[in-house]
Amino acid sequence: MEIPVDATLILVEDFLTSHGLTAVREQSTTANPVLVADLNETAPSAPLILLGHLDTVFPVGTAKQRPGVIDGERLTGPGSNDMKPGAVMAIATLLALKEANYQAHPVRLILVTDEEILHKNAPTKETIARLSKGAVAGFNFESADPDNGVVTGRKGGAIVDLTVTGVAAHSGKEPEKGRSAVLELAHQIIKAEALTDQAAGKLVNCGLVNGGTSENIIPDHAPTGIAVRFTTVAGTTVEMKVATKIDSMDTLPGTAALLEKLQASARLLHQPVPHGKQTGGASDAGVLTAHNIPTLCALGIMGGGAHTAHEYGLVSSMFDRAALVATTIAHLD
Ligand SMILES: [Zn+2]
Repeated sequence: MEIPVDATLILVEDFLTSHGLTAVREQSTTANPVLVADLNETAPSAPLILLGHLDTVFPVGTAKQRPGVIDGERLTGPGSNDMKPGAVMAIATLLALKEANYQAHPVRLILVTDEEILHKNAPTKETIARLSKGAVAGFNFESADPDNGVVTGRKGGAIVDLTVTGVAAHSGKEPEKGRSAVLELAHQIIKAEALTDQAAGKLVNCGLVNGGTSENIIPDHAPTGIAVRFTTVAGTTVEMKVATKIDSMDTLPGTAALLEKLQASARLLHQPVPHGKQTGGASDAGVLTAHNIPTLCALGIMGGGAHTAHEYGLVSSMFDRAALVATTIAHLD
């Protein structure tokens, strides 16, 4: 089975193994396996979760065209912001706790491989929930803005598959018989994207378009990936299916206390004290909070430009934030 992030998976597995940790592939019969490594598995207290994802949004081969580069404080390359460094930081946090002989709680590292497609076609959300059962705190290493914020709540996200069906006809010989699915799709895209209200945190992106078979045939089929409600015009039908969705990351009663512990650890380490904030953009932290596990997100590298060719991360924030999370865990009751 072809696994798009397989090389990364093997790299991480080998690294964990060479550092005395056992990496296990859950959901291994799917193209989207989940990597798990445990510290203090048998400790009698409630577990803590370190969460991240190994996939990014670019096609296989992008890293060959524009490899990762560290130039002073700046890391660039595909996934340099979202979230290869975060995965490294989650691993470093686990190893730091191991080296410090930390024993108070079981600590479980969960690295998924299909976050960017919101776990389409795999039961990853259920797997995360099962692997996190009984946990009392979650730390998600998605990237952060350079404002030293820590995310305590996020919006949910969904991918909607939308298909317009029209009537095919030769565009020169009998155009009157055709109903163009592509033309209707163009109208639907304009309507859908017009629903975007950035101030209200409502975001609609039609990021993938298909349709038609030839220049001289009125197209009867046009699928796309999008997210909203639609009305249709005569002669065409629009079919919409929610392909996948991620829960919003809720701020739970225990979230503020967790943030306070993180802030206290920042003072201890003489780091600038991070502030809590709400943001858009779904993450797997929502899976944890949906199961009542207080979670902090955006604990990964600080930087910007996620999902673009201009993404970057600030290297020193990797060390600072991994140390911050490890110290926070070391001071949890
Ligand atoms: Zn991410």
